[in-house]
Amino acid sequence: MRIGVVEDDDGVASALVDALEANRITAHRMARGTELLTRHPDFDLVLLDLGLPDMDGIEVLRRLRQVSAVPVIVLTARDDERSVVRGLRNGADDYLVKPARITELLARIEAIRRRAQRASASSTDLREFGDVLVDLSGRTLEVGGEQIQLTTKEFQLLAMLVDSPGTAVSRQHMMDHIWGDAFVTVSRSLDVHMTALRSKIGRPGLIETIRGFGYRWTGEQ
Ligand code: CA
Repeated sequence: MRIGVVEDDDGVASALVDALEANRITAHRMARGTELLTRHPDFDLVLLDLGLPDMDGIEVLRRLRQVSAVPVIVLTARDDERSVVRGLRNGADDYLVKPARITELLARIEAIRRRAQRASASSTDLREFGDVLVDLSGRTLEVGGEQIQLTTKEFQLLAMLVDSPGTAVSRQHMMDHIWGDAFVTVSRSLDVHMTALRSKIGRPGLIETIRGFGYRWTGEQ
């Protein structure tokens, strides 16, 4: 796997590159956003810092998405929730808060790699996360060997999340997909169904809330 690291800070960049190469991942560092816009075909995945000297990282991402679907993980400063949301809305696949823990980074990379594999291989409708089993075609959920009864909407929410584990799914996308039109009242309705779904699954760590954006199926209990 070849990863492009776009980071203007020399110290941060070399720490990232060293950590990736220590894990047998080929990493190429770029200090400027414009470099990524020409080099992107060389990479299987991109780590993109949002504070760059030549161009705002969000703008780099926006332009990249016009020409490429290469997976992108944005790197943001702590508490920069707005940038996270803007990054995800502009096509980032995931985000990490700096300084990124290497174990966390590798886990996110692995999640994206597996998702890409699943997308290319003919995938089964069964999703397994420890003792949580979701059958997307049979529309059943089993937790710890017990069948859990879900309403249609609860299952639709669950299906959207488990179909792309590790990926942030926006509330807007869920509302558009499940309710069709996003009426004002739907937003509250989504909360109600999500609360019910979480309580029925009974594994609080599985569904993470991303404030100001939506939800992520972590796959971790
Ligand atoms: Ca920076």
